[in-house]
Amino acid sequence: MTSRNVQLPMLGEPPQTERPTSPPFVRPKTPRKQRPLGKSTPIVWLVELSFGCNLACAHCVAEQIKKSENVLMDEETWRRTFEIINEVSPFARIDLAGTVGEPTLNPRLLDFLRIARELAPNVQIQITTNGTRILAREYKMKDLLDAGANILYIDQYGAHGRFEKMAHESGYPWYQYYDDEADKTPGALTPWQYWGPDLKMIVLMDEPSTWPASRRRANILGSWLGTIDYKRAAAGGFPEIAPLREPLKRRCNQPFQYVTVSATGEYLLCCQDGLQKTRGQFGSVHSGVEGFREFWFGRDMQWIRGRLREKDRASVKECSKCSITFSRCDYKLWDDEALNRVWQDGQWVSLEPTLTSEESTEQGTLELSS
Ligand code: SF4
Ligand code: SF4
Repeated sequence: MTSRNVQLPMLGEPPQTERPTSPPFVRPKTPRKQRPLGKSTPIVWLVELSFGCNLACAHCVAEQIKKSENVLMDEETWRRTFEIINEVSPFARIDLAGTVGEPTLNPRLLDFLRIARELAPNVQIQITTNGTRILAREYKMKDLLDAGANILYIDQYGAHGRFEKMAHESGYPWYQYYDDEADKTPGALTPWQYWGPDLKMIVLMDEPSTWPASRRRANILGSWLGTIDYKRAAAGGFPEIAPLREPLKRRCNQPFQYVTVSATGEYLLCCQDGLQKTRGQFGSVHSGVEGFREFWFGRDMQWIRGRLREKDRASVKECSKCSITFSRCDYKLWDDEALNRVWQDGQWVSLEPTLTSEESTEQGTLELSS
């Protein structure tokens, strides 16, 4: 953690250069949200511009993706995605992040941002990036924000001073997320809230290998449905990413609030499906709004939600190996009525009430779309 207070140099030390300062934050006027699907309206869409990364972090499964498997999202898929978003959740937060991929690898990024702003004018768009292409001056922070992004959320794989200098050059407000409160830019806004389409800011993050142990132990680095190479992770400095002795008895908010779209346009179970094991099981954005309804309110998703609400990760193959626990994962979301129905052939069909954990365990573990 760095301090914004400039210290006098000790004898023999090179003089410290003063850190650049951010322009002040001005809180934007946030539009009143509309939720076309009521309490079942997704609040975040994670959209993958690139499947595959230019780094190979030890806490990630990117190194398992072969070059021949890399995919960049195309314009047709991008347009279909934002058309659906504008219909079903027009005030959503959009996170342009690979499940395992670096969004700035997509050379159409600036064009796509402009298209998204036209198709879904009220969304809040965040780009989550490892920052390497920005450091290489292939993308300027200002250009990304001017094209339509609202938040640049940059894991600083490189010297913090270089990122701060570039953030300063952009002219937009910025802050180091992990600075002490007293050192933060006054009025700095959280990226985890909807502020609307007029917000512009840069959030500089510490990349995970530099995190203190307390943050690493908080289970916010997952095991990617158990697909991570645990030995490699441990050797790379992440011994806390280890196989579970037994499935967690915890809820998960992901399938209730978050939609994950792969670079090919297919819906995935969640952001933890880095190797896209569920690709092909939930349909794709190419089936339009109706296809979205069939995915979001389909039998598989409703069944998974029912199990997760019972803290029964054990019954869902993917969740049984998942170690991640997000800060709000234990919230009880959706009501029984919303869970006990599916959208099928253009209409609602009632389901029998979901099984209890014990009943489910007696019937064995369900595999998705089996
Ligand atoms: S953690 Fe992010 S930057 Fe690192 S390899 Fe995975 S996708 Fe790339
Ligand atoms: S518990 Fe299941 S739905 Fe939640 S993040 Fe883990 S694998 Fe995804």
